[in-house]
Order: sequence, then structure tokens, then C-alpha cells
Amino acid sequence: MSTLKDDITAAVDRLGNDLEQLSHRIHANPELGYQEVKASAWLAEFLTAQGFKLERGVAGVETAFRATLETGDGPTIVIMCEYDALPSIGHACGHNVIAAAGAGAGAGLAALRDRLPKGRIHVVGTPAEEGGGGKIRLIRGGVFNGVDAAMMCHGWDKWIAHQDLLGIVRVGFEFTGKAAHASADPWEGVNALDAVIQTFNNVSMLRQQMRPDARIHGIITNGGAAPNIIPESSAAMFYVRAADLDYMWALQKRVIACAEGAARATGCTLKVTERDDAYEPMKRSEALLGAWRGNLGRLGVSESPEVKDRLGSSDVGNVSQVVPTIQPLMKIAPDGTPIHSRAFEAAAVSPLAREGMLIAAKLMAMTTVDLLTDPALVTRAKQEFAGAR
Ligand SMILES: [Zn+2]
Ligand SMILES: [Zn+2]
Repeated sequence: MSTLKDDITAAVDRLGNDLEQLSHRIHANPELGYQEVKASAWLAEFLTAQGFKLERGVAGVETAFRATLETGDGPTIVIMCEYDALPSIGHACGHNVIAAAGAGAGAGLAALRDRLPKGRIHVVGTPAEEGGGGKIRLIRGGVFNGVDAAMMCHGWDKWIAHQDLLGIVRVGFEFTGKAAHASADPWEGVNALDAVIQTFNNVSMLRQQMRPDARIHGIITNGGAAPNIIPESSAAMFYVRAADLDYMWALQKRVIACAEGAARATGCTLKVTERDDAYEPMKRSEALLGAWRGNLGRLGVSESPEVKDRLGSSDVGNVSQVVPTIQPLMKIAPDGTPIHSRAFEAAAVSPLAREGMLIAAKLMAMTTVDLLTDPALVTRAKQEFAGAR
């Protein structure tokens, strides 16, 4: 007798051509963050046809959506779809595959809706991952309220269940001094460029006391108007990244102190621009990862070791800070293919991408079944979440 998981797997396979077509269509029409009008419409259309109830423009974000399948009172599980492209190199992050995998997981579950344990499944379309922080707006808009667990799958050159993400926060500085002729009356001036340079020197000294998994990098965005004028204004922008959220905010405070010290030393005034859309580090959920790995084994996929040193940032980290979340990596490109490259963009429509997308759709659907079937797994994930940092 075939099990529910076997039948869901077969349902995903039957939809293979439709899902691949959806992925290719999104790939051929790359849209930047918050402009994903076509991609979100195609996904909404597909999920409606599978029996989902669609809400467009959730949380006031025009290209976001939430598709819901309800079978009764039970856990609420979110499967996320990204679909924004990169400027000039299109779908070199493979978000077309993420979108099709999420839609495929939803479709596989919908096909067996009469046999699903009770609960609520949301397939959520999350725009603008590449710098726009779409998921942050959805969190603030309440889309993740009452959600028990969330998952998505990102393209990579290997199958890896968990990879850390660095938190990232941006901070801007504007210094104001006083202009004067740089040769005739330099003593009349207050040098705003010196304040920026001193800030960089202070940060350089801070850097040698920093943990190795943190990064601070900045640029000067205004360094004065002409060499014969003491610069009356200057500006710089810094990114502060760290694997630990508290450490990231602590470092950001230290960077601000570097600028404040420089302002005091040079006699300039300082305006600090703090952004409230930080991408947060990925909080690990061993409970959800355990279920995921069980399903990986069931499909005979072997997992590669975690990558410890090539770390980026994503707004899925923010989701992982509000509900138990996983973002496993799916193999959609040949070994050694870097993401955000033209080779990855080409791989995102290859037969390997189809294979990875279908496996990922099955894995997300099966992990959802685990969560709906086993209340103890949901409880474990929530307890671990509450206890972990
Ligand atoms: Zn990317
Ligand atoms: Zn990406």
C-alpha cells in the first residue's frame, strides 16, 4: 500500500513539466525586487488552479501573495517562494527555481488534500530578497503571526541542509565642518573629510579586536568638492555583518562611536543614519532539520558538509528569528558553480535545475506532512526556538 508521502511524490512528478515551464517562464522574464508583477501573477494563477485560496498584495506589498490550503484545526506551515532577479545578470541566484519548488510543494500537498492531517498550509510569495528586504515587510505586516514553522529551499551547487547566514546592518555618516581656502585661510576651516578619514582609522583599529566571523566594510560617498576648499561636508556608508545578532548590533554601536570620536576630534557635527531593515542571521532549527534529513534519506539524496566560510546574508534570516525556519540548499548547478554568476544563471534552467526543483518540492511537501502528522515535532521545534539564541 502506498503511503501519503509516496503519493505526494508521485503527484509532484506528474506536475513536473508544468513546474519546469513555470520556472523557465520566470527565468526568461527577470524582474527586479518589488517589480515581480508577472512572476507573482503566474505563481498565483498556478496555485489557484491547484485549489489554493489566493490573497494578493499581502502586508501592503503589491507583488507578495499568500496562498492557503486548509484541512482543519492544526499547525500552520509556511512554504516560501522567492522570485526576484538581479540587475543585469537576471536569475543568477536561481530564484525562478525557488519559486517553482515552493509552488510544486504546495501543489503536491493540494493533490492529496483529502488525506492530509488537519492544519493550514500557506505558500507565501516573498518579493525582493536581493536587498529589498521583502520578508521584513511581510513580518511587520503580520504574515508570519501564528505560524508554527516556515521553510524554503535555495539553489546551490550541492545539497546542504543548513548554512549559516550573517546578519547585516547598514549605517551612514554625514559630517559637517566649515569651508575655507585650503591655502590662504586653512585655520578658518573645519575639515569634514578629516572626520571621515579618522572614522576609517578608528574602524581599522576596531577591526583587529573583532571576532573572525564579523565583517565591516565601508566607502566614502562624499569626500569634498575641490582640493583648494577645506571640505565643509563629507559622508560615508558602512555595512556591519556578524553571525550573531547581538554581536552585530554591538559592533554597529562601536562603529557609530568611531564616527562620534572622529567628529569630536575634528570639531565637525555628525548626523548618523541608522537603518531599521537589517538582515538577521539564520537561527538553526535542529528539529526541522532532522525531519528534512529524514526525507532526504528517504529520497536517497546524500548531503554535503556545511560550508563554514563562504557566508552571505538573506532576509530569510529575519523569518528564522520569529518562527522556526529552515532554508536548505538544493543542488541545481554543477559542483563549483558560484552563485550570482552567469554560469549559475544558465544552470538555473538546466535539466539539473529541474531535477533539484522536483526533489526540493517533494522534500518541502514531505516535511510539511511530518509537521502536520506529528504534533510533538511542532512542539519540539517551538521549544528549541524559544530556548535557542
Ligand atoms: Zn542572491
Ligand atoms: Zn538568492
